[in-house]
Amino acid sequence: MLEQEFELKWDVGVRTACVIMDVGKPFASKIQVPHEYHTFDFKDMMSILLLRGIPPELKLGARFRLRVDGPDEEEAMRAMAELFTAGARMDHCPKPGCKSPPILIGYTPSTLTYICCGGPWDVARPKKEEEHA
Ligand SMILES: [Zn+2]
Repeated sequence: MLEQEFELKWDVGVRTACVIMDVGKPFASKIQVPHEYHTFDFKDMMSILLLRGIPPELKLGARFRLRVDGPDEEEAMRAMAELFTAGARMDHCPKPGCKSPPILIGYTPSTLTYICCGGPWDVARPKKEEEHA
């Protein structure tokens, strides 16, 4: 069993929950967030959306502990860590005067996609070599 703490760099919407589930789907391991009275499942849409409403809430700046447990837990944690550490912290969208943190709606090896009041936009991710340079 592996545990790691992350701080969210964006807000979580329904499409963010889909992104999180897509990243976890290929792995046999359980991907969970242990909480006071309940363990939330990051492979389950309702579970992710429920956690948005329970302090410290799944939103920009929230810290949460991710627990990965199973035969491929190292690969699964690596994939989840890559998702939750990718890109810059999105305190607000590019529209002047907007104070809402964007929601992450897309995640590929080359691109992060966010959405807010002005519609969606893409941010290119640095290549692996550049990240470690
Ligand atoms: Zn906005």
